[in-house]
Amino acid sequence: MADRERLVKTLIDLIRIDSPSGEEDAMDLEVSTRLAALGLEVLHDSYNNVIAKLPGDGEPVMLSAHLDTVEPGRGIRPVVDGDSVRSDGSTILGGDCKSGVSIVLEALTAVVQNGGGHRPVEVVFTRHEEGGLVGAHHLDFSLISAVSGLVFDGEGPASRVSVAAPSQNVVTGNILGRAAHAGIEPENGISAILIAAEILTKLPLGRIDSQTTANVGRIEGGLKRNIIPEQVFIDGEVRSRDNNKLDHYSQKFRDAFQEVADRYPEAKIDLDISNTYQAYNIDANHPTVKMITHALGQVGLEASLEATGGGSDANIFIQNGIVALPVGIGVRSFHTTKETALIPEMLQSAEMCQRVILGTL
Ligand SMILES: [Zn+2]
Repeated sequence: MADRERLVKTLIDLIRIDSPSGEEDAMDLEVSTRLAALGLEVLHDSYNNVIAKLPGDGEPVMLSAHLDTVEPGRGIRPVVDGDSVRSDGSTILGGDCKSGVSIVLEALTAVVQNGGGHRPVEVVFTRHEEGGLVGAHHLDFSLISAVSGLVFDGEGPASRVSVAAPSQNVVTGNILGRAAHAGIEPENGISAILIAAEILTKLPLGRIDSQTTANVGRIEGGLKRNIIPEQVFIDGEVRSRDNNKLDHYSQKFRDAFQEVADRYPEAKIDLDISNTYQAYNIDANHPTVKMITHALGQVGLEASLEATGGGSDANIFIQNGIVALPVGIGVRSFHTTKETALIPEMLQSAEMCQRVILGTL
């Protein structure tokens, strides 16, 4: 069975390896070594995502997590306090997603040590998930045969299964006005900041409806107090679990930019809207949902099938024909310095993962 002490030790060991997005080599080496020691065949695709295979009988199942973490995530000092693991407060914990990686490794260890029959397993540990699902976008799907799987990257307990998630359109705007001395000749300037402000007041932002959200998360522009600002960059997004709404509100963004652009013919206003991932909505009767629900039941948990407002590698896997769903990894407060891993919930997630591998339906 899954072992609590071993699971916690794996989590601590992995957290101590820095792996901010784009710097996953050390984590890659560690997990590849561990997977090979367990008898898996370890491959890398051209993006150096880790793909590892354990032969077995029956339908293969994909078990996934990601190797990178957000910032501040360097020199993390994990502190075990009873049933929880936290950082010292100066960094994130990195439980997202090292709890997920640890859970998969613990379940595999338990299965291999126990011996006996099990399903073929395809482990996929992606790089650079945070901020763009980059590794998943580059994943070589020809190396994977599973059509069903789990993504160990969800907040909360193992029982939380994300069966629906939104599409995301990334919205980037560049505004080029004209610089001028703010005290001597302001009439010769065109303020890009003012244009950006006018655009922002016209955008639908925040929670638009139960399926749709929009945000401008960053603006950057201007040089000095005494210069009419020439340039502004706007970084935003629209998400919806309904693609018609995604299109509708993306068009509202376009209209707002155009309306303001018409009033500033001398300014150059560029807008780019591009889709980064597609929504999914998996039926409760889908075999993947049944597989997860059954395995949760075997460890005494009732599945909670939820719709999320966030995207994950699962969006990309599903776009590529693998219905792999995010499940909880026992972690709270992702992406904050309060991030906490709850050991009993991690253990349940590992036990559920072990049941999936054993495949006793
Ligand atoms: Zn994550």
